[in-house]
Amino acid sequence: MVGIHIDLEKTFGAMSEAVVITQTDRKIIFVNRAAEQIFGYTREELIGNTSRHLYERLEDYEAIGEYNSNIAQTREGRKYAVNFKRRNKNLVTCEVLSTPLFDPKVGLAGFLFIARDISDRIALENKAEQASAILEDAIESISEGFALYDKDDHLVICNENYKKIYPESAAMMQPGSSFRDILAHGLANRQYDTGSLSEAEWLEDRMSRHREADGAVIEQKLGDGTWLRISEKKTRSNGTAGIRSDITELKTAQNELIEAYANITILTDSLSCAISEVDLEGNCRFANEIAAKFLNSTVDDLIGTNYRKSLSAELQTQLEAPYGRAMEGERSKVEVEGIFPDGLRRNMQIEYIPKPDVSGRTNGLIIFATDITNRKKIERTLAELYSVTSTRKLGIDAKIQQILRIGCEHFDLPFGIISRIVDNTYSINWVQSPNGELEAGASFPLGDTYCSHTIEADQPIAIAHTAKSELALHPCYRAFALEAYIGVPLLVDGERYGTINFTSADVRQRPFTKTDKEIIRQFADWVGNEIARQQDHDELMEAKVRLERIASVDDLTSILNRRAFLERANTEVARFRRTQETFSAVLIDIDHFKSINDTYGHSVGDEVLKRFTAVVGKLLRAVDVFGRVGGEEFCVLLDRTGPADALMVAERIRETVTTDCKLPGVADGVTCSMGIATISNDDVEFSTLLQRADVALYQAKNNGRNSCCAYQDDMIREAGSNVAFSSSD
Ligand code: GH3
Ligand code: MG
Ligand code: MG
Repeated sequence: MVGIHIDLEKTFGAMSEAVVITQTDRKIIFVNRAAEQIFGYTREELIGNTSRHLYERLEDYEAIGEYNSNIAQTREGRKYAVNFKRRNKNLVTCEVLSTPLFDPKVGLAGFLFIARDISDRIALENKAEQASAILEDAIESISEGFALYDKDDHLVICNENYKKIYPESAAMMQPGSSFRDILAHGLANRQYDTGSLSEAEWLEDRMSRHREADGAVIEQKLGDGTWLRISEKKTRSNGTAGIRSDITELKTAQNELIEAYANITILTDSLSCAISEVDLEGNCRFANEIAAKFLNSTVDDLIGTNYRKSLSAELQTQLEAPYGRAMEGERSKVEVEGIFPDGLRRNMQIEYIPKPDVSGRTNGLIIFATDITNRKKIERTLAELYSVTSTRKLGIDAKIQQILRIGCEHFDLPFGIISRIVDNTYSINWVQSPNGELEAGASFPLGDTYCSHTIEADQPIAIAHTAKSELALHPCYRAFALEAYIGVPLLVDGERYGTINFTSADVRQRPFTKTDKEIIRQFADWVGNEIARQQDHDELMEAKVRLERIASVDDLTSILNRRAFLERANTEVARFRRTQETFSAVLIDIDHFKSINDTYGHSVGDEVLKRFTAVVGKLLRAVDVFGRVGGEEFCVLLDRTGPADALMVAERIRETVTTDCKLPGVADGVTCSMGIATISNDDVEFSTLLQRADVALYQAKNNGRNSCCAYQDDMIREAGSNVAFSSSD
């Protein structure tokens, strides 16, 4: 045994593991140094004894003995862990490798035990186990789904919630399964809503995000409509830890909110009014599309900015006071005018409505801005139209020219026409034409004008871009290429008169509105009224002329009656006094007229009077005045004619009457007597001149009738004259 001992010492002495060799009776025959150290006993104390006292538990010692007693079993050797008791009573856990020793001569000779102190490892393992249990508990206590994948993307650990979230792939969620396989399995079982992506695309997208794992939130929709929020992060060992929470409710609420916001946006965008909301600092919290348009921005860009500061100084000044009042909690409204950030000049009505918080304090403003440029323009146009139509200073032509000008300005079209349409002819009655391209009086076949449509439609027609309208093939378009047109039938006293229309060769940038059609109707009404008024006026004037004629003309002879003649005569006297231009009065009385009546009847007498005035009238000039001043007495005023010439004219009249006034069937001829007097500065009124003529006439009658006699100062008028004039005549 000693030889063996030396060999054993050589073989096992320096090993760091404890080596114990026993005989078949379990008595120790060899221990190495490491064994002495582990057990705390010396070699001498151990050799010759069994190892029984070294075991913590006797059962272990006995179980090993029992096991080793079965040679067939032990031949292979065995590995197990067991607790030994050191001399100092401390326990030491060892991993033991036991193997039977065979002697070629005797067979089983004993057992070799190699033991290694694994107390530290066990302690560590216990600790690790404990820690892992704590970790597992912790992971399980997370209400979200948790999964940890290692650097090779194999599942390390996950909690039950993780499996519950993905029921279709739960079976795959074993430690060691690859993330990709788990995903693919879930995909195959329709676990995910891949949206517009194919399964392959979805998988690649998901994998790439998973590889990034930068903590960014991923929202994932599952096949059953559940929404998950996933946050994945790299671990220090380059694994991936991911947390998944169910955000379906949140997502639903969010979607509802988005929808509600979209509805509000649609609503506010469909209003023609710009709406915005600002906080106490004036920063935009909300704006609709129109607001963004006015401010030359986008809704997204406006949010958060103090857009008021981007307005022109001119506008800011106008807004300052009402804005300030509103911030103080007082609702305010203001009309401003200026150039907006989009470059357009506008009239705008701004209304500030303070927005109170729960405690009633203003914490922002709702702002409504309405573009009232058109309204203002309409107001201006109507005011101008009113002032033009209501003035008495302008005649109809001037008024209508003004109306056309106002219309051209209002519609921003250069040509304005008021047409008269009779049958199928369209004539320009009034026109506004910047360079005289069109002239009043021109006429066209109605069918060659856009107005044919207006007349047919019997309502306003407005075309902003003819080339793109149904009138593109219209003869008017082919002839004049007028792109923009607005026209309306023009009625005068309810009857079709023509049209009023405004046109341009340029396309109108702004399409015509319903209001434009209302406005042109208004124009037509005003013009119709003007024309009607003018027609009334013309008729009135004609009636007046007719009446005046009736009042001044003698019914029988159609020359001036007595009243009209005397009026005219007085005017001539006044003119003489002004100009000293002389004239003479010739008073004519038909001789023995009574006997004509008596002999041939009154109606023949009338015929004689008519014939007489016709004959005398022919002998006079247009400037002479001829009137019937009595039954068969007449008076002629000879313009710029002195006594001598007057006498000559009178003689000619007398002579012609004797020859030309004879009526068929009337045996007696017609003669007349005349008294002539020339105006003098003593004649304040015509009556004095006529009295002198009457004196002369009396003389002529006395001279035997059918004669002319010029007045002389020494003539005396005897009583009985049948021509009596007073200054009141
Ligand atoms: P003398 O030569 O002196 O002038 O004579 P006389 O007959 O003309 O004189 P007198 O003045 O007496 O008569 C005028 C007559 O004229 C009287 C009247 O009946 C008549 N007479 C007046 N007006 C008309 C009229 O409109 N038609 C007709 N047929 N006769 C008239
Ligand atoms: Mg007489
Ligand atoms: Mg007479």
